[in-house]
Amino acid sequence: KSLGIALVGLGTYSTYELAPSLLETKHCHLAGIVTGTPEKEKIWAEKYNIPKENIYNYETFDTIVNNDAIDIVYVVLPNAMHADFCIRAAKAGKHVICEKPMAVSVAECQAIIDACAKANVKLSVGYRLHSEPHTQEIQRMVREKTFGNVQYIATGAGYPSHGNPNPNQWRLNKALSGGGALMNMGVYAIQGAIYGTGELPISVTAQEFSTKPEYFKDTDETITAQFEFPSGAMGSIFTSHNAKADRLYASCDKGWYELDVAFSYGPLHGRTSNGNEISFPHKRQQALQMDDFALHITQGTPNKVPGSMGLRDLKIVEAIYQSIKEGGRKIALDV
Ligand code: NAD
Repeated sequence: KSLGIALVGLGTYSTYELAPSLLETKHCHLAGIVTGTPEKEKIWAEKYNIPKENIYNYETFDTIVNNDAIDIVYVVLPNAMHADFCIRAAKAGKHVICEKPMAVSVAECQAIIDACAKANVKLSVGYRLHSEPHTQEIQRMVREKTFGNVQYIATGAGYPSHGNPNPNQWRLNKALSGGGALMNMGVYAIQGAIYGTGELPISVTAQEFSTKPEYFKDTDETITAQFEFPSGAMGSIFTSHNAKADRLYASCDKGWYELDVAFSYGPLHGRTSNGNEISFPHKRQQALQMDDFALHITQGTPNKVPGSMGLRDLKIVEAIYQSIKEGGRKIALDV
């Protein structure tokens, strides 16, 4: 069975990544849309052949409970709106995919997890890279300790958003985004540090700085943080809304591996100290991601990105902000 997905929020990511990806999926398809912009209804209905009864706005959304054509609700709204719509989707009995970052606080992540558990629906977060072959190759090398233990990992994820002509974009508005670079791109750097070592950090020390404070008034521009891992490995992450960064590098007992680029839509590319290229044919990551989640629902395959992973990352995000607030104090982590 191919599951029907409804996209909530038809902005850049839905328009240019998720909807085109849903033309390539095998186990799910674009069945419905939820939009606050009436002009988009006709455009999407025609382009993707969406019947009128599968089109909702933010007010009519809850009536989706009566629509058997929709199995999964995919929330692709500004971060501060994720919790509300994920919880409403769960209450409507729909499985949920929530975009990253899962929400703007640990408490909100927990509320989404609780709502999905109560409604007995499945929950995933939009961390597309867990279905991506270069990333999976890193995960395999970590599992098999191909180069021994990791001693140091460095990840960086960022882009120069000050070039955006719209200073009012929601990502720079803390009430809608929950934070700046760390919330938006930092979660990739955190993710990479974790799957690149196969360990969860036990402490974090963080610093914030700004090179364009006149532009980044409400949200963090650039953050660096250092992790300690249980094995003794160390990690360093960089995230910025004012610099391009897209790399994962791990230095191990017996060599190294890197992905460069590591976090963008692909094709990714990497290499290892034994001279091998890490290179796989390119497929849309989002198609792989949504098919993986559909198979989890229909066939009970593992949920590669459960809600607990989104919550874990928000715990680390909150600890990083806390460390910065306390002048770079080392914060113990229990994640
Ligand atoms: P966007 O600004 O392009 O789209 C946001 C959508 O939300 C628009 O359709 C807008 O109309 C709607 N919206 C509803 N209420 C709004 C409000 N009060 N203010 C602003 N917009 C409002 O954003 P996007 O890039 O599509 O990002 C949406 C979500 O997807 C975010 O959580 C983002 O982090 C996530 N995202 C994930 C990836 C990924 O690779 N997984 C990539 C891009 C975005």
